[in-house]
Amino acid sequence: MKISMAAAECVPFAKTGGLADVIGALPKELAKNGHDVTVFLPKYNVIAEEFVQHFSLIEEIPVSFGGEIKPCGVYKYNDENIRYLFLESREYFGRSKIYGEPDDGERFNFFSIAVLTAMKEMKVKADIIHVHDWHTAIIPLLIKKDNRFKVLGESAKTVLTIHNLQFQGNFATTVFTKGFELDENRFDLSSIEWNGNYNMLKTGISYADKVTTVSPSYRDEILTAAYGEGLEDVLKERKGDLVGILNGLDTQFYNPATDLAIEMEYDHSSIEEKAVNKRKAQSLMGMPVKGDVPLTVMISRLAGQKGIDILEEALPELLQSNELQFILLGSGEEKFEDFFVQLAKEFPDKVAVHIGFDEDLAHQLYAGADIFLMPSHFEPCGLSQLISMRYGTVPVANKTGGLKDTVIEYDRVTQTGNGFLSDFTGNETFTEAVRRALTFYQESGHWEAIKKNGMEADYSWKQSAVLYEGLYQELTKNLSAK
Ligand code: ADP
Repeated sequence: MKISMAAAECVPFAKTGGLADVIGALPKELAKNGHDVTVFLPKYNVIAEEFVQHFSLIEEIPVSFGGEIKPCGVYKYNDENIRYLFLESREYFGRSKIYGEPDDGERFNFFSIAVLTAMKEMKVKADIIHVHDWHTAIIPLLIKKDNRFKVLGESAKTVLTIHNLQFQGNFATTVFTKGFELDENRFDLSSIEWNGNYNMLKTGISYADKVTTVSPSYRDEILTAAYGEGLEDVLKERKGDLVGILNGLDTQFYNPATDLAIEMEYDHSSIEEKAVNKRKAQSLMGMPVKGDVPLTVMISRLAGQKGIDILEEALPELLQSNELQFILLGSGEEKFEDFFVQLAKEFPDKVAVHIGFDEDLAHQLYAGADIFLMPSHFEPCGLSQLISMRYGTVPVANKTGGLKDTVIEYDRVTQTGNGFLSDFTGNETFTEAVRRALTFYQESGHWEAIKKNGMEADYSWKQSAVLYEGLYQELTKNLSAK
């Protein structure tokens, strides 16, 4: 099949979170299975020179946007049988940030229109156009309702993957009217509006041929008011086309046996080498180097979703009553950053904090930690728990979304399971789940079993890619039947 993907993030070029990991890995797995994959990305200023120096300008396309013709350079970069096409607009992507700009709505409207313009001008054939999150979610609407791109819709079906329903791309309706050249009489305006705003994700949910989420449990959760972020009724209307496919992990990128970012490589047969990595992690973070003290770690965006409020409750008590170390690597909301910085001041021998984004340090911490803390209130899939397990680090997580689908409570009798789950919707606190982990940490036979169970499981993209292929096939079969 010919598959075009369009997204705002992709490892190793631009990353703020799990979306980038998925776009970095899924296309490679699909290409490995013989599909012809093109990935469209914005050419951000923040992309490292080591990649940009290999970009080649192959086309300059005129993008008609908001009544003007805007220039857009198309740069090609080939890697592992994938054609990456980076779309350049100095006006929209020549910035120091990926997102968080006041004109984000306009920027990604432009990008979406530029993707389709490039496909049309450069005759990029596609059976499937797979878009991700709000940034590119309007593409299915454009294909169906904008005369300029109708020709693409005659041969291509669209899939929208929701990586996180909380981020919807809500903007004033003027952003919509400026961006498009649609005849408003030809479609139902209410399908793109939400609470008086133009909602880009809702647009995608309404118009994509299939909508997917990144785990089966999150798929079910978002149909309820508790997790639906206000869009539960819109999602319910598409229930028959809504599918949950668990993310995989790029097992090449996250491989403790070959990872150059860690102090000592290891695999499940040399798991004892984690001790070397633990010492390295402790010394890098300036904490006491102690092999026998359990080292807990959190690597995360510091946002409400991630359950920092739960740690605000749990950590002071846990640190007071246990021999325990805690490292935080993350950045985000100031109040959460302040909490961790303050905690490190209160427990200077037990807590170390690095505010910022640091991929190499993250790898060293995954390799060095004993326990990974993930008290998320909701988690569409979550990659950090998968990375942890791959590095023999035991996750303690809240029982929600993708965490529920991947973390299995350890069972003392059968010695099955790979971590500890807090049923936080009931009476259990996260602290109790951490305490369970700490108890098993003292029982080395069990602890070895938990780590091994995590390391030996297959979290690769293999199975998930097959599910996406099945979905694509279902869509294209219908197309040829028409
Ligand atoms: P989300 O996409 O909601 O942020 P995920 O668990 O799906 O959460 O993915 C987070 C990814 O981002 C993981 O690869 C994690 O290691 C990485 N990450 C998060 N914060 C940082 C940070 N401060 N430094 C390095 N990597 C980080």
